[in-house]
Amino acid sequence: VPFDQLDGEIWFNGEFLPWKDAKIHVLTHGLHYASAVFEGERAYGGTVFKLREHTERLIESGRLLGFEIPYSADAIDAATNELLERQGFSDAYVRPIAFRGSEMMGVSAQKNRINVAIAIWQWPSYFDPEQRMKGIRLDLAEYRRPDPRTAPSKAKATGLYMICTISKHAAEAKGYADALMLDWRDQVAEATGANVFFVKDGVIYTPLADCFLDGITRRTVIALAKRRGIEVQERAILPAELDGFDECFLCGTAAEVTPVSEIADWRFTPGATTRQLVEDYANEVQPMRAAAE
Ligand code: PMP
Repeated sequence: VPFDQLDGEIWFNGEFLPWKDAKIHVLTHGLHYASAVFEGERAYGGTVFKLREHTERLIESGRLLGFEIPYSADAIDAATNELLERQGFSDAYVRPIAFRGSEMMGVSAQKNRINVAIAIWQWPSYFDPEQRMKGIRLDLAEYRRPDPRTAPSKAKATGLYMICTISKHAAEAKGYADALMLDWRDQVAEATGANVFFVKDGVIYTPLADCFLDGITRRTVIALAKRRGIEVQERAILPAELDGFDECFLCGTAAEVTPVSEIADWRFTPGATTRQLVEDYANEVQPMRAAAE
């Protein structure tokens, strides 16, 4: 079923609309000029994990694009929670988006309304569950994550996802699940929708989030590892170092913690550290599951 044909409701500018009626005009500024920011959240057992952090990042992303989202964090959180209840899901994916409307056309959009919508659907596992625990295969992307002086790289802005879709499509065409992107310095950055981690001799390495999204899952995983007493080093990682790492995994709201077995010609074996973090993350997002074990 195409995404515009699902059932249920979408919260749009303060109202709950029937799913199929949540439409915009083709002359929407956000579509032409990428003046749009979004979030990706997951609900587990009826509760959105780290909802306030996501909502705050949405508001901050808008600010980085020069607009003020016309709803408070409290109002967005309340709308999200009410929509989750109305949709009747306990485990689901949540997609808020804020974008400039169709009042003015052109690069300047001073008078355009800031529209806000929230959609919630069921999205079980971002990567093929069969492949997941064996490790997914990544290619190396052609495009680099831009220099923070080139674009507001901390914003979860739709425009920045142009390179992600190009990279993911190119990887999929070659049979890979996803692509690893380097940054403009040729340092390891992130995958097209998730952050990347490596393990060597029980120590975890992940690039400093200085030109890509500092994922909420990334921060959660770092905290979980430290709670286990595992050393975590956030530092520049060069592709030449990939030979030396034993394990690799991705993490993100949609991807959760996903082991990686290949990046282009480099090979990794999902091991004890990755498995521990897959488990710890599952218990962190589903406290009911942890209590039952
Ligand atoms: N990087 C990119 C490009 C992403 O799209 C995502 C998913 N939002 C992440 C990293 C991970 O962020 P988070 O853990 O906040 O979902």
